[in-house]
Amino acid sequence: MHIVVVGAGISGLSSAWALAKRGHQVTLIEQGTIPNPLSASGDHHRIIRRAYGAATGYANTITEAYDAWDELWDDLGRSHLDPRGFLCVSREEGDEAETYLEGMKAGGYPVEMFDGAEAARRYPFLEAQSVRFGFSSKDGGALHCKLIASDMAGWLRGSGVNLLTETRVAAVDPAAAVVRLDTGEEIAADRIVVTAGAWVARLFPELTKDVTTYRTAVVYLEPPRDLKAAWEAAPVIVDVGGKIDGYILPPSGTGGLKFGSGLHKEKWPDADAGRNPRAGEGEQVRDLFAPPMTRLDEYRVLDVVTCAYTFTPDETFYCRPANKALIVSACSGHGYKFGAAVGRRVADAVESGDNDRLARWLRAEAA
Ligand SMILES: Cc1cc2nc3c(=O)[nH]c(=O)nc-3n(C[C@H](O)[C@H](O)[C@H](O)COP(=O)(O)OP(=O)(O)OC[C@H]3O[C@@H](n4cnc5c(N)ncnc54)[C@H](O)[C@@H]3O)c2cc1C
Repeated sequence: MHIVVVGAGISGLSSAWALAKRGHQVTLIEQGTIPNPLSASGDHHRIIRRAYGAATGYANTITEAYDAWDELWDDLGRSHLDPRGFLCVSREEGDEAETYLEGMKAGGYPVEMFDGAEAARRYPFLEAQSVRFGFSSKDGGALHCKLIASDMAGWLRGSGVNLLTETRVAAVDPAAAVVRLDTGEEIAADRIVVTAGAWVARLFPELTKDVTTYRTAVVYLEPPRDLKAAWEAAPVIVDVGGKIDGYILPPSGTGGLKFGSGLHKEKWPDADAGRNPRAGEGEQVRDLFAPPMTRLDEYRVLDVVTCAYTFTPDETFYCRPANKALIVSACSGHGYKFGAAVGRRVADAVESGDNDRLARWLRAEAA
C-alpha cells in the first residue's frame, strides 16, 4: 500500500518507521523541520516512567513501550534512552505522588521509599520539611527527542520513505485518500494516517469536540554551582507533590535541567499563536516549585520553550477512523514515552483495519 502520514512528531515518525518496515510505500509530510521545535515532540527530552495511577492501564503498557523503543534502537544503531530511573515526592495526602505509589504497588513494581530527611540527604535540592515521603524506581528515565527525530529521519530516508519537510498539508480528503498541499499539489494514497498533534483541528474541525488544545511553557535553568553535581546524578522527577503537577528533567542528552508544570497550561485554540515566551514566564514556572525545591531564586533562567498540545477529557489517547484516513493522537501530556509502540500499533491497524483494537490500546484498555 501507499500510505501518506501527515505530521512528523514522534507519532508520525514512528508510524512511518513501522509501516516502512512492513514493506509499505510511505510518504511522510511535515510542515516544519524534523524535529519541528514547535511540535510537542520537538523539545530536548521527555520522561519515560512506569509511574501511573492504578486506575489506568498505562503502567502495564510501558512494558510494550520499552520493547518498541528497543526495536527502534536496534534499527538506529544506538539508544536514545537515558535509563536514570525516576523519583516521586509527596507533599500532601492524596497528591499525585501518592496515586503513582499506589499504581506501582498494585502492579507489583518495586520502589524504594524514604522520608523527608532521607530525601533531602540524597537529593540536596529538596527541602526536607516540605517532603512527606519520596520513592524512587529504576523503571524510568529520559528519552532524547531531538536525537530520536533526527536519527529516525535519517533511517526513513535510507529506507526509501519519501520525506517532505517544510511542506504543509492544507486538506485531507478521506474518501478519496488524497491530501492537498499548500501549493495546491495533490498526493494520492491508499490510506492516510494523520498525526498532526495540536494542529489536527485545522484539518478536521469537528475534532474540537473531542480534544482541547493548550499552550504551555517549560523553563531550562542553571542551578547553583554547589547543586550541579546533585542534578547531574538525579533521576527524572515525575511529580514534586502538592497541586502543581510539576515534573523535572535533569541534564540529559542535548537537554539541560528543565522544570515544567501542568498548572501552567491554558486553553489555546491556535497552535501557532503566542509561541514567544512572555516576559518573566520562566521565573513564573520556576517559582511554582518552591516548595519542595530550596534556593530557587539562585536558579538562573537559561531558556523558555513554549509548547502546544491536545488533551482528551479523560487524558487518554485516541484514534478516529474517517473512511480511508486514520487520525491518531497520543498526547494528553504523556504520550511521547509510547511513541515507538504507537507506530507499531498504527501499522497493525492500517494493515488489519481493526481500528477498535487500536482505540482500546490507546486508552490502555486490554487490547
Ligand atoms: C510541555 C510538555 C511536556 C511533556 N512531557 C512529556 C513527558 O515527559 N513524557 C511523555 O511521555 N510525554 C510528554 N508530553 C507529551 C508528548 O510530548 C506528546 O504526547 C507527543 O510529543 C505527541 O506527539 P505527536 O507526534 O502526536 O504530536 P506532535 O509532536 O505535536 O507532532 C505533530 C506534527 O505534525 C505536524 N503537522 C501538523 N499539521 C500539519 C500539516 N497540516 N501538514 C504537515 N505537518 C503538520 C507538526 O508540525 C508536528 O511536527 C509532554 C508534552 C508537553 C507539551
